[in-house]
Amino acid sequence: MSFLIIMMKTLVNELAVTQSLLKQSASHDFLTSILNRRGFYEKFNALLSNQRENAPISIIAADIDFFKKINDKYGHDIGDYVLTEIANTIINLIGINDIFSRWGGEEFLIVLPNTPYEDALKIAEIIRKEIENKVIKYKGTKIKITMTFGVSSFNPMYEIDQCISNADKALYYGKNNGRNCVVGFEDIIA
Ligand code: GH3
Ligand code: MG
Ligand code: MG
Repeated sequence: MSFLIIMMKTLVNELAVTQSLLKQSASHDFLTSILNRRGFYEKFNALLSNQRENAPISIIAADIDFFKKINDKYGHDIGDYVLTEIANTIINLIGINDIFSRWGGEEFLIVLPNTPYEDALKIAEIIRKEIENKVIKYKGTKIKITMTFGVSSFNPMYEIDQCISNADKALYYGKNNGRNCVVGFEDIIA
């Protein structure tokens, strides 16, 4: 093989690697490596087009309580570390087919395919407890945090954003009622 062909093959390979890195960075969050909003919508839309009709889907919105205080007390770098630890903790508690994303700042969104609302409430409670009991250690500093959760069921009659907004409403209900809790949208509108 001539030198020129080898060079061209190398360049094509490098281009493929660069392309896949670009694709990864467009759909994933730089800090935690989980999906960003864009990646979330891609995965959610793909799920909806492959989903069995009438199969239940649930949504959990989760936000760290008083995260600003963590940054103020320990500094932004430790705040970043806490975010990655929280993301890793949640990854270990959800399924491989669940869609997990950083929705923004210190809020995460989880979509659970084939999961009825009542089961999603239980899963959110498992995550809440795990985080409440966790001690995050960073260079000798021990940090405790809690999170508040809002749960809604996906309804194909409505837009995705409407269902996310329902989970968010439940989350903010929890924020206004003591935090460190799981609130179901269907329970607050009942
Ligand atoms: P609440 O319980 O009501 O959610 O209170 P909170 O302090 O968590 O909420 P607030 O919206 O007041 O503050 C969120 C903080 O999250 C402020 C912002 O600086 C911090 N934050 C957002 N994104 C990042 C990040 O990527 N890294 C770090 N270290 N902090 C972040
Ligand atoms: Mg918060
Ligand atoms: Mg927030």
